[in-house]
Amino acid sequence: MSDPYDPWADVASNWPGVEVVIEPMRGTLLGELRYPVIALRAGTSAAQRRCTLAHELVHLERGVTDCGPWAAREELAVHDEAARRLIRLDDLAAAVRAAGPGSAAAVLAQALEVDTQTLTLRVERLTPRERAMLRSRLAGRVG
Ligand SMILES: [Zn+2]
Repeated sequence: MSDPYDPWADVASNWPGVEVVIEPMRGTLLGELRYPVIALRAGTSAAQRRCTLAHELVHLERGVTDCGPWAAREELAVHDEAARRLIRLDDLAAAVRAAGPGSAAAVLAQALEVDTQTLTLRVERLTPRERAMLRSRLAGRVG
C-alpha cells in the first residue's frame, strides 16, 4: 500500500515557492491562504494543522481566490477533497475495525491523525460504492 497523503511533503515537493507559517490568529480561524504564504493557527494540534494545510493546498490547486456567491459551495468542495485525501478508505476501515463498531468520532479521528470535522465530513460524504466497500471490508471479506 502506498503511503498516506502527507500535506507537509506535498507542500515541500510541489509548492517550493510557498511558505507555511504558524502564528496566532483572530477569532476561530484555523488557517489562511495569503499566497505565497499559508498561515496555520498557533496552538492547534498536529492533526488540525495537517487538515488545515491540506485544505489550503486544495484551494491553491483549484486556483480560486474569490468565488463570490459560490464561496460556500467552493468551500464545501475543498473540504470534501481534503478529507478524501487525508482519509483513505483502507485506513478508515482499519481504524473502525481497530476501534470497534460504534466508536466515537473523536477516537477514530485521533487514530487517523485528522480532526473530528474532517472525519465526520468524510464519513457523511462516502459514495454508495465506498459504503459498500467499507461494509465488505468490515465483514472481513476482501472488497
Ligand atoms: Zn477554505
